[in-house]
Amino acid sequence: MLARPRDVCKRNGLLILSVLSVVVGCLLGFFLRTKRLSEQEINYFQFPGELLMRILKMLILPLVVSSLMSGLAALDAKTSSRLGFITIAYYLWTTFVAVIVGIVMVSVIHPGGAAQKENTGQNGKVIMSSADALLDLIRNMFPANLVEATFKQYRTKSVPVLNPSDPLSSEGTRNRIMIYGIQDENGLNMQNFSLDMTPTPVVIYRSEPGASEGMNVLGIVVFSATMGIMLGRMGASGVPVVSFCQCLNESVMKIVGFAVWYFPFGIVFLIAGKILEMDDPTAIGKKLGFYAITVVCGLVVHGLFILPLTYLFITKKNPIVFIRGVLQALLIALATSSSSATLPITFKCLLENNHIDRRVARFVLPVGATINMDGTALYEAVATIFIAQVNNYDLDFGQIITISITATAASIGAAGIPQAGLVTMVIVLTSVGLPTDDITLIIAVDWALDRFRTMINVLGDAIAAGIMAHICRKDFAAQSDEVPITCETK
Ligand code: ASP
Repeated sequence: MLARPRDVCKRNGLLILSVLSVVVGCLLGFFLRTKRLSEQEINYFQFPGELLMRILKMLILPLVVSSLMSGLAALDAKTSSRLGFITIAYYLWTTFVAVIVGIVMVSVIHPGGAAQKENTGQNGKVIMSSADALLDLIRNMFPANLVEATFKQYRTKSVPVLNPSDPLSSEGTRNRIMIYGIQDENGLNMQNFSLDMTPTPVVIYRSEPGASEGMNVLGIVVFSATMGIMLGRMGASGVPVVSFCQCLNESVMKIVGFAVWYFPFGIVFLIAGKILEMDDPTAIGKKLGFYAITVVCGLVVHGLFILPLTYLFITKKNPIVFIRGVLQALLIALATSSSSATLPITFKCLLENNHIDRRVARFVLPVGATINMDGTALYEAVATIFIAQVNNYDLDFGQIITISITATAASIGAAGIPQAGLVTMVIVLTSVGLPTDDITLIIAVDWALDRFRTMINVLGDAIAAGIMAHICRKDFAAQSDEVPITCETK
């Protein structure tokens, strides 16, 4: 029997509100652009959206720590290592497949053409090398100070070199000597020659370990997962800490349950505010437009075909029903561009709508939000090959393989925060000798692509939880859901 519209609305009220808020946010944003608001007015307008981001970020730390510690402690050593191994192997595999999809798309559509670079009006310089990026990844896994890890992460910085003994160097800069002339078919026209000694100084940089704002989620995940495994092995003496974590986890999820009612309102302002801020969309060049279409097509193929088919193939269950269950998390990912900030909602959707075993969700989701980024990996591969095409740089087969491996690694290193993939893309570009400065070519459209790739990142984590719950169902059936003492009241 068909469900009555009123029942459908009652059951899916929040989801319907969230979908509407995305639509209203887009319409409101484009409407207000015509009103030419001042920067101050836009700042005030964005406040409800800022509040939504703050609420989500506030929940990340207690959620990641409590879910990993209680989740892993509740598993016996054999199950936790089996779950850990299968999950990481699955994450690496799907990320690699996403990269391949990206490479096929960009090779077929060929958005970079073979002509000159388009000027996107952006300027900037990225000096960090891939070795620096790799060291940052490892540093972030082992934070020297856990408290500091809640608000800072390691990031290598470029500093100007000061070498007073170098006659050409002053305050770390070298003057560039430029010769201008007009060339016709007979060669240079000497009458128009001019020598310019003064303009743009060329700054010489070296890299130095540094820190940047933002939570080091990777470090917190590594620490909490290790603690969870150790607590599980301690048996009865670990129970007080595990019980505390279980209570914390339950209470955070209750806060999420209340907060979600604010989200549709926040989403309207978050999306409209971003549209008010963006550059004029008609100024985006043709190649950049094709590049954006290529990334979106790749994400669609991965998100609507590869991942659902993998789910269907392994679990023999309907992937559409599964994806419908996590739709609200996907909308939050679209609005926030952050898989870490979306984590509380991904949990809620999986536990309440898709009835995933919470021990699986508590491990698979926080780890996934930190290291499993299919959308980011796909985008990094497409962006790198696009930059090669724009530069008329022919990539051989070995370089394509290098791109697929480094894009997978770079996506693991990207934090689950807005536009983190843009930073780690340096690893991929330097691995094949492409100019890292050319990242500036794609910045103009990155804020929009970031939203779509974050949706795929979140979908990848959710589907992984569904698959892991299916694969490990027998192990879990034999074990109790919690350690003996919990705060749960019925
Ligand atoms: N914004 C993405 C995420 O949070 C990361 C990125 O690709 O920039 O998943």
